[in-house]
Amino acid sequence: MVIPKLIPNWIDAQEQMVATSEKFPKLDPATGKLLCEVVRSKAADVEKAVQSSKKAQSAWAEVPPVQRGLMLHEIVLGMKNRQKEIAEIVAAETGKSYKDAYGETGGAIALGLFYASEGQRLYGRTTTSGTPNKYAMTVRMPLGVAGLIIAANTPIANVAWKVFPALICGNSAVLKAAENTPATAWIFGEIAKEAGLPPGVLNIIQGYGEEAGAPLVAHPDVAVVSFTGSTEVGRIIQRVAGERFARVSLELGGKNPLVVCDDADLDNAVKWTLLSAFSNAGQRCASGSRIIIFEEVYEAFRDRLVEKTKQLKIGTADDDDLGPIINESQLQNMIAAVAKAKAAGATILIGGDRFSSPGFYMAPTLLENVDPQAEISQCELFGPIAILYRVKDFEEALALANDSPYGLTASIHTRSLHRAVRFCDKVRSGVVVVNAGTYGSEPHMPFGGLKQSGNGTREPGTEALDVYSELKDVYINIDPSQL
Ligand code: NAD
Repeated sequence: MVIPKLIPNWIDAQEQMVATSEKFPKLDPATGKLLCEVVRSKAADVEKAVQSSKKAQSAWAEVPPVQRGLMLHEIVLGMKNRQKEIAEIVAAETGKSYKDAYGETGGAIALGLFYASEGQRLYGRTTTSGTPNKYAMTVRMPLGVAGLIIAANTPIANVAWKVFPALICGNSAVLKAAENTPATAWIFGEIAKEAGLPPGVLNIIQGYGEEAGAPLVAHPDVAVVSFTGSTEVGRIIQRVAGERFARVSLELGGKNPLVVCDDADLDNAVKWTLLSAFSNAGQRCASGSRIIIFEEVYEAFRDRLVEKTKQLKIGTADDDDLGPIINESQLQNMIAAVAKAKAAGATILIGGDRFSSPGFYMAPTLLENVDPQAEISQCELFGPIAILYRVKDFEEALALANDSPYGLTASIHTRSLHRAVRFCDKVRSGVVVVNAGTYGSEPHMPFGGLKQSGNGTREPGTEALDVYSELKDVYINIDPSQL
């Protein structure tokens, strides 16, 4: 694995430094030591990237979608050839195990393959007209330059989720890498260049959100902003990009409920609660952080869960269950939130503090006796922390599941078809799962949330094509007298 000492931007298929020569450090979350430095882009660098993408876009849009798909397929093959290398970089930057990083890279490849094939479809619609001798259809048009801003939690998957659908639709793109995972975006840029993607079709800028992300969001030449990140930043983006009527797609946070009914298979429920709450150290928008348990099985479930949590292995090896938090400041936020909940009367069943130092490890944490209205119940923590709530029946469980500003994913554990179907029907979330975890994203399926988890768009799946393309109605009139 080769991570450059200083991660550059990719502009016009060239590695480029920034105008100010400023840089910032990227630390290894597993050790706290310097992994590399990163160029610190500002508005002038963003401007350069946007102008390059703007210039490249019209020629890219002229390439027939099938050919665009073949080009993306070349990138997919490049990713496949270098899967090991990508996974090593993802593991080094995030602290997740190589095995998990390799799996994530496989997911990104599958997603690329899906969108490469979309070049052969990219369906519009033909329909009837109310007027004789008139033919009506819709076709998909690119929007122009797409501004793509991503989070660090699953870095190669996040790059793929945005870049492939944006490009297949005929847009060019400026990707703002997550500041905590710069090298993953960098290697993707290298693979895209090697695959022969025309210069400027994808530019990648490195830097902090307010310095490099904000100018992209505000830029008048950026027609669509697609963002994966926190609700707090999503709110700013919605406002700024909305002001100039740019299209906005927001994939935001979650505080996802997992309900354990009195008729659940408790072993299965424990297994999926552990995975939902603690995999990727809880740094998943879909993580299960509110565990809602029927009172009849509360103690039995809680005791098994705590026992199994004790057995979790923490570290970066392939047989470890969870790794570190992405940076020290996120870790400190979590420790403070748990301490505040404790001071307000919460019981810490296990964890609650830093696991070890060096490295940014948070011990897997379970809390009970927490008010559902308390800040820790209502706000996303994005770490390995889950709260257990006791409810008396299905109706109370459903009401509590829905009592959240978020609505991303949800899960129910029950043997009852009636409870399962009712829950799927009534829970206010974009994804719902029966008898497994708060997981839910496959390349061909639309993912997204209600309420403060998003703005109603869905990515990936064919639904993402609606984010990255404009519909045009085409009417063709013929004159039968000319036949
Ligand atoms: P974040 O919102 O702090 O940062 C995300 C990205 O936005 C980064 O690249 C950052 O540099 C950039 N950014 C920050 N401020 C900005 C600004 N003012 N203008 C433009 N860009 C700006 O989020 P994070 O802590 O890196 O990631 C965790 C969040 O992401 C969690 O809330 C999580 O739920 C969410 N997430 C959502 C999904 C989903 O699909 N719904 C997937 C993964 C992560």
